Amino acid sequence: MTKQTTLAEIGEFGLIERITKQSTKIHKTTGYGIGDDCAVLKYTDTLYTLISTDLLVEGIHFDLVYTPIKHLGYKAVICNISDIYAMNGTPQQITVSIAVSAKFSVEAIEQLYEGIHTACKAYNIDLIGGDTTSSITGLTISITAIGIVAESDISYRKTARVNDLICVTGNLGAAYMGLQILQREKSIFKEVGAQPKLEGYEYVLQRQLKPESPKHIIEQLKKNGIIPTAMIDISDGLSSELFHICKQSHVGCNIYEEKIPIHENTADVCKEFSIEPLIPALHGGDDYELLFTIPITCFDSISTIQGVTVIGNITEADKGLYLISKAGDKVALKAQGWTSFTQ
Ligand code: ADP
Ligand code: MG
Repeated sequence: MTKQTTLAEIGEFGLIERITKQSTKIHKTTGYGIGDDCAVLKYTDTLYTLISTDLLVEGIHFDLVYTPIKHLGYKAVICNISDIYAMNGTPQQITVSIAVSAKFSVEAIEQLYEGIHTACKAYNIDLIGGDTTSSITGLTISITAIGIVAESDISYRKTARVNDLICVTGNLGAAYMGLQILQREKSIFKEVGAQPKLEGYEYVLQRQLKPESPKHIIEQLKKNGIIPTAMIDISDGLSSELFHICKQSHVGCNIYEEKIPIHENTADVCKEFSIEPLIPALHGGDDYELLFTIPITCFDSISTIQGVTVIGNITEADKGLYLISKAGDKVALKAQGWTSFTQ
């Protein structure tokens, strides 16, 4: 028998590479297939269709012990439309498929859909279909998001250029610290039955349980005539997303520790856990902010947009990927954010 490879040996990205090797591009309308936040379909020359799909599995991506099911519905939509924004597009429709085990009541699934509908309203999206089936254990949610983008506006991961400025929206690491609070309170409850203490942690909890997508930033960029040269959403951590952009664009980067935006509430929670705030900011997942690059000539213009921070610049590929610490040290970046099979 030939040697069987474990999933952990090659990891999520290794597996995707291996199973998609034979994928075809038969149709002219298949503009861009595997490898970016969305596939790009070219049914017309000027307006492209964007498609992205994501799967959320109970026990892997969410824990219903501390996740209100309505919030889960909301978050599931956000995770998906985040990929449409990451192409500089506008989400239009979603399909939602669920597999549900007998432990769920009809009311619970109605609550899930309350959250889904609330997100659809907030982001101007139509729910247009899906599929419903049973499962042996737990809940699985798969959402496909469909969006549009003008040909001239699209931002891929592969087109960052040397000297571009690196920008992020919002702040980083909050969702990860929210998760630390929830997991701590869950284990205290399990051990001593104490009611969870969540007061004072509202900001980081909200970032974990009910994240938002930076739709307003995409609108501001358009208003200011800025088209990111490359863009990706930050779902697996800043560091790992920078690796995606740099690898696919064949460039390197320098980012500056002092520039990385961290909310004061996140820093407070980090202190409580004795975690250096830089760690969740670089490697924490679930932020759903955007990481993008712009030509250096856009510096003045980007500075007028609230909620965007310039954190560094793109360099030649042979220079590598570095973080310049507050002390001025050059530290090689590591991609150690969330990936499946290796946790
Ligand atoms: P994201 O983090 O934006 O959700 P992923 O890292 O999950 O993207 O996926 C990377 C690329 O691989 C995407 O283009 C995605 O569509 C594709 N992909 C992921 N899993 C599969 C699969 N099982 N079969 C085919 N393509 C896949
Ligand atoms: Mg993505």
